[in-house]
Amino acid sequence: MKARSIPDTARQGWACLMLLLGLTTTNCLAQQHAEDSLMIRKLFDNALTAGRIGPDLRYLTSRIGPRMSGSDNAQKAVEWGRLKMQEINPDSVYLQEVMVPHWVRGNKEKSFFTRSNRKREVMQVCALGGSVGTNGRLTARVVEVRSWAELAALKDEQVRGKFVFFNRAMDPREIETFNAYLGAVDQRSKGAIEASKRGAVGALVRSLTLPIDTVPHTGAMGYDPKVVKIPAAALSTKSANLLSESLRYDPDLLYSLTMDCRQLPDVKSYNVIGEIKGAVYPGEFITVGGHIDTWDLSEGASDDGTGFVQTLEVLRLIKTSGKRPERSIRAILYMNEEAGADGAIAYARQARLSAETHLAVLESDAGGFTPRGFRIEGSPDIHAIISGWKPLLAPYKIDDIHSGHRGVDLAPMKGLAKALISLDCDDQRLFDIHHSALDTYDRVNIREVELGAASMAVLISLISKYGL
Ligand SMILES: [Zn+2]
Repeated sequence: MKARSIPDTARQGWACLMLLLGLTTTNCLAQQHAEDSLMIRKLFDNALTAGRIGPDLRYLTSRIGPRMSGSDNAQKAVEWGRLKMQEINPDSVYLQEVMVPHWVRGNKEKSFFTRSNRKREVMQVCALGGSVGTNGRLTARVVEVRSWAELAALKDEQVRGKFVFFNRAMDPREIETFNAYLGAVDQRSKGAIEASKRGAVGALVRSLTLPIDTVPHTGAMGYDPKVVKIPAAALSTKSANLLSESLRYDPDLLYSLTMDCRQLPDVKSYNVIGEIKGAVYPGEFITVGGHIDTWDLSEGASDDGTGFVQTLEVLRLIKTSGKRPERSIRAILYMNEEAGADGAIAYARQARLSAETHLAVLESDAGGFTPRGFRIEGSPDIHAIISGWKPLLAPYKIDDIHSGHRGVDLAPMKGLAKALISLDCDDQRLFDIHHSALDTYDRVNIREVELGAASMAVLISLISKYGL
């Protein structure tokens, strides 16, 4: 542990003790607690009465809309984000260049299957992000699996020339829906690779959502350069159930898929960064961020419009707090979280080159729902410091402190920042809308997003004051 970890708190305690002759350390700590409580109250009051979350999110979603990496809209969001940061008037606002992929969906996908009795059933599908197209209509038989072991157990002739249909559902028994997502997302990320290795012509993946409905959910998928690229589509849960039931008594039904999607050349894009210099330790940084880019099926209000506007709001809350923070605060709008985290990787590369000290990097990318606390990856000492602030966080119901962050954009800072921290939200509704046409402004509760912004501003202010 370095000299300036916990001892900052102790040092302030001693300084305080000397200044306030006659007071005991206990009194001094009580005074600090009172000061901190007041600071937190002010941040929440500011966010809940003078915040910009509502109008900012409305503008971002309705005036700019979907913001796929490499698209014109993504560039509009970069320019708007920079303008909004400049309005807050921190010490500096700048762009950080990054090359990003540019995938386009093209014409809307068409899909159906034909039963042996020639009856046709329309399927609700969407291409997975990054998929190749079908080059016209692709028709083949289907083999269904729910696990990698089931796929491995199939004979080659049972897979070759067919679609592999990955139909493992998210487990509804998981209380945290994110864990249910983690239990099923491998089908989306590597389904096309594993199916292609066995000679399949396409991958069909059950949408990663709990409700049984007609809405397909997209998301990033992977290819292996050593394996033939085959098209991959997500089926709505209702379509997946119908296909599964039909295959049981009609295993030779014929499935048809038409997808026009394709990868275009990479595009130059940007992270947007705003910075407030620290008054005491300007070389020590605490960052807060969300991602600019979205999928194309909706305006990306929750994922990650909420993190985008919260990042602006945290910068505003700290700027208008009336006191310059002890450490430097950087607000980062990341580009291309969804299809490779290129923006976050570019930021981490620059951080490594500059040898800056990063105390903590925070991200909000869990949907912008009611905040519960924080997920922290850091040493036991850091957990102890932050857990020590629980009495300050409890009145705002944000004192759930868990291990392990969940921010894709945080991961590149592992080993560079002392703590990687995700804002933790109640995620029960997240996967109902995630990466689908349902991720719209009207489904976001603005007050919940305001509470999340205030929560991050509070944690950042405490880290700025006491260090880690
Ligand atoms: Zn996201």
